Formats: sequence, C-alpha cells, structure tokens
Amino acid sequence: MSIKPIKPINLNRSQAVIREKRLKSIVGYQGSIKDLAEKSRTGCLKNAGRGFSQATNCNSGCAQGHLSSIVDAAIVNHGPVGCAGDVAGANSVYQWGQHIRGVDNKRNVRIVNTNMSENAVVFGGDKILQDAVRRAFERFNPKAIFVTTSCASGIIGDDIERTLKDAEAEIGIPVVPVFCDGFRSQIWASGFDAAFHALLTRIIKPAEQKRPELVNVINFYASGRKIVTEIFGRLGLVPQFGIPFSTIEQLEKWSEAAATISICGTLGGYLGNGLEQKFGVPYVTALQPHGIAGFDDWLTRLGETVGKQQEVAAYLAEQKELAAPELAEIKRKLQGKRVVVGMGPSFAHNYIRLLEDFGMEVVWGFSWHYDSKHDHGGCPSCTLDLAEKERDIPVSVSDQQNHEIINLLKKVQPDLYVGRHPGQSVWATKLGIPTIMISDEYSAFGYQGTLEFGERIIDALTNNSLAKNLAERIKLPYTNWWYEQDPFTFLNSEKSEVDEHVSVG
Ligand code: SF4
Repeated sequence: MSIKPIKPINLNRSQAVIREKRLKSIVGYQGSIKDLAEKSRTGCLKNAGRGFSQATNCNSGCAQGHLSSIVDAAIVNHGPVGCAGDVAGANSVYQWGQHIRGVDNKRNVRIVNTNMSENAVVFGGDKILQDAVRRAFERFNPKAIFVTTSCASGIIGDDIERTLKDAEAEIGIPVVPVFCDGFRSQIWASGFDAAFHALLTRIIKPAEQKRPELVNVINFYASGRKIVTEIFGRLGLVPQFGIPFSTIEQLEKWSEAAATISICGTLGGYLGNGLEQKFGVPYVTALQPHGIAGFDDWLTRLGETVGKQQEVAAYLAEQKELAAPELAEIKRKLQGKRVVVGMGPSFAHNYIRLLEDFGMEVVWGFSWHYDSKHDHGGCPSCTLDLAEKERDIPVSVSDQQNHEIINLLKKVQPDLYVGRHPGQSVWATKLGIPTIMISDEYSAFGYQGTLEFGERIIDALTNNSLAKNLAERIKLPYTNWWYEQDPFTFLNSEKSEVDEHVSVG
C-alpha cells in the first residue's frame, strides 16, 4: 500500500488543519530510522500513547513567538494570563535578534494578554478582546494585529472572527485571528502553521510585479544573513529573510519572489507550499543546509528551481576543494565518537546525517515529533536519506520527555549529546556528558559553518570540565528504580529493550 496523495493546504478555512490530521504527525514512537521511513512511506505509522507524560509545550508559543517578531505588528493573546507565560522566552529571543542586528534602541515584544477571568469564561470574552485590540492599537500603533487564541477562548466558543471583523472596521488595519488553542494539537509546531495560515490568508497579497532575482528564505532569526547574501550574490540572487524582523509591507510582497527556500523543513513547509499553491512561487524541497551533503542538496535544488545550475556547480566545486584538508582532519579526530541527538524532527534527522558524515556513530536520535509526510506530499527527505544508509540508526519520537532521555543517556553513556533546546540539553550536561546546544539555526550552515561546527565538537570533547563539575555537584531527581527501567516503559507501543538497539558504553 502506498501513501495517499496529500490534499493541498486549505486556505479557504479560517484555521490551519493541525499536523496530526494534515501530515499524520506523531509524538510517540520507538524503533529505527529504516522502520520509521518504511512506515511513513506506506502510511502505516501510528502514534504511541504514553501512560505518563512529564511535560510538553503549547503550540501558541510557536505562533506567538514567531508573529511577535514582525517589527511593526502587535499580538493580542486572548486567554488567561498564564497562557502568556512563554512571552518571556519570545522576548529574550527577540532581544537577541535585535542585538545581532546592531539595533540601538532595543524594545520588548509587543504582546498583550486579555487576562480572561472566571467572569469572561462564564459570560463570554468578546468585550475584553475588543478592549485589548483597541489598547494594542493605541499603545503600539501597529500595521497589523494578530490575535492568538487559547484553550479557554476555544472551549467557551467566543465568536472571535466576528469580534475581530468589528475591530478591524473600527481601527482600519488587519486584525487577524490565529487559531492556536493548546488543546487543538499535541505538536507545538502546529503553531508555526497557524501563524503562516494567518499570513497566507490575510497579509500576503498577489504580486504586482515578479522579481526573478528574489528568493524568500524562511528561517528563525537569520543570524546567517551575511553568508547567505554573499553566496546568493555569487549566483545573481537576492535573499529576503523572514518572517522574524520583517515588516508587514515586506511580507505583503513575498509573492513577488522567484522561489522560497527554508532553513528547516519543520518550520517552512506550510508557508513555502502555501506560497506555491496560492501565488505560484515554487517551494524548494531539499535537505537542510547543515553539513556538506545537506548544503550541496539545498543549493543545487535552489539552482535547479531558478535556473542557476552552472553557477551553483561552480561555487560548490570551489568550496569542496577549499574545505577538503580541514574536513579530513576533523573526521580523523571525530571518527567513532558516540553521540546522541535530540531536536525537532527536521533538525534531528539532518544533524544525524551530518554527525555520521563526520565519522561519528549516532547511537540514538530523539525527535520531538515526527511528520509522516510534508506539505508537498512526500515523506521528509532527511528521513528517507538516512534510511538508505547501510547502518540502521535507533530513533524515538518524544515531545521532550526528559525522563526517557535521561534514562537512555545514562544507559548508553555517549561521548557527546547534541541538542537544540536549553531546557532539555542542560540535563545531559548535568549527567556529565559533554553537550552542544544548537540555538542558532545557521550553525553548521554551508562549508565554512560545517568546519566551524566540527571544531566546536572537538573543543567540547577536549574540555569536559563543565559537565564533570556539574555532575559531581548535582543530584538528579530520578531514583535508581527509574534508571533500572527501560527508558520507554511508559510508551504504549511494540518495543524492544534499548539494549537490543545500542551497545551500552
Ligand atoms: S492555550 Fe491551553 S495549553 Fe496553551 S498555555 Fe493556555 S491553557 Fe496551556
């Protein structure tokens, strides 16, 4: 049985369809990369539930965090004040984004919360929502207001669309609902889709002119603007980064570009495919540009899409020759080092490839969710690519369930842990395992980035005093009973003991 052709993104609805339904995404699995790819290909992959779940994130964080980084927009979060708890995180990332752009007068993110109380839950929250939109308009003078929903507003059935239409008529700017109630989806990346759905349906306009040199680059905070601009410049292309630090006017014109490409398959699929579907801007589906194989594929497919094959081939050949000696030395030093990876699905499966290409042995790969297919209709290319390699890599899917991760790390004792989220990576360090946290999406980008990342790993393995000292002084909250269990004891699926998959170090 082969997988059914995917339905296109439905932009006639006011809400994005969640990933569980659209992409058959899951948050529970244990097995191997070949099995995961085969089950995805054949449409047989099922989510494994958990008898115990430690913590997870709300998809409103992704929606709100991303939209609040549009420089002239404001956000109204319609929910109890606790739902705005992740604003602090969004703000610190926004501050960092301003810092790397050299902004002198830094400001905070522009988010207000309606502070839904029992009264609003019983009698309706329409009035406080209207007031909050007015306040946000007066306080921030934005070009658009995005209203993010919450479990409470969803459960009581506030007529948000009606309220926002009235508000829009009153203040004269787009006031756009973003449906990201926490209970809608177990997958926080559904929040990215909710944010992009709002842009595709209400902000981005049909192109008045086409710009054949322009390429939309979907990314998080665009720390790699300089290097991407340089590389694209060699090809006669101009990148347009977004959506963080874009203006509403810039976003309106994303339909003018010759192509869209993304730094992350998990992040960019909805917006990229939506732009292709609605405005005819081709979306480049490729491996992520981390590591040599990933970057070669990313740039080659972009070249094919915009007719720059020769320029890309010449650039890659030059870079390959320049990088060869240092790359060989890095591989010599990293050969056989055992590593565990824990990241979102696209980053995880792309970094596994990169680390294996360095000659390291990935003894386990965690991804925080997994999409059986992407919005272009196919299985994730990074997963299929790994599945074709000779060695089958043990993997699991776990929405940052630290009890599983810590138990497994304790059993397999890798030389290195590579993560992408601070609240999770720190646990590996506390276990005494050298850890690299990749907060910057342009780490390991292209040839130079790959070499720098290789050196960073060598440094982490050479000097492990931070992890050692932490481990000596910190008592972890788990008992010996838990460490004696299989890490996936609470995962209700067909599973084999971890020791069957990996050699215990
Ligand atoms: S929307 Fe729901 S899940 Fe998200 S923070 Fe609020 S109460 Fe929690």
